[in-house]
Amino acid sequence: MRDFSRTPEPRGRRCRARGRIYVVQKHAARHLHYDFRLELGGVLLSWALPRGPSLDPSARRLAVQTEDHPIEYARFEGTIPPGQYGAGTVMVWDIGTWEPVGDPEEGYREGRLRFVLRGKKLRGEWQIIRAPYRDSRGQKSWLLVKARDEAARSEAAGSILDEQPDSALTGRTLEEIAASHERPPTGRGAG
Ligand code: MN
Repeated sequence: MRDFSRTPEPRGRRCRARGRIYVVQKHAARHLHYDFRLELGGVLLSWALPRGPSLDPSARRLAVQTEDHPIEYARFEGTIPPGQYGAGTVMVWDIGTWEPVGDPEEGYREGRLRFVLRGKKLRGEWQIIRAPYRDSRGQKSWLLVKARDEAARSEAAGSILDEQPDSALTGRTLEEIAASHERPPTGRGAG
């Protein structure tokens, strides 16, 4: 794991654009997963979703909290070199802004963050809820759950992960990104 307080890379600047940054990065590491990130307090709070997000309110998707990332990381697409933490290809699968429902700092502290997503793929209201257990490596487990609203949809109607697999930023596939040889902003790995 990196310690951002002990590396020379820039920490996240507060984005003055309207709304807080929201991003989901599709990450073809040892296991393909999705990294869900919300800007709060000058960093990107981060969770790894082994199965990705679901539009189905009855699907409670595991979200394993990972280290905070710098704001600059939100738009990164490219390849983390072999041997680095998180080695593999990273795609910006969805990007946009998020709006908290209620006080976000308090919600985060209490382990129940309610928010509205305004991404290119994910919309409407969601919750991320801290579960009372940790995984085998001692990392905090949360559950990402879609609220019942007009943006919700049953998994039986199809998976948005399969229907819209490509980059929300550049339209590229994972293979096209892998072939581009772009490196992370810091030249280092990431969860
Ligand atoms: Mn990751």
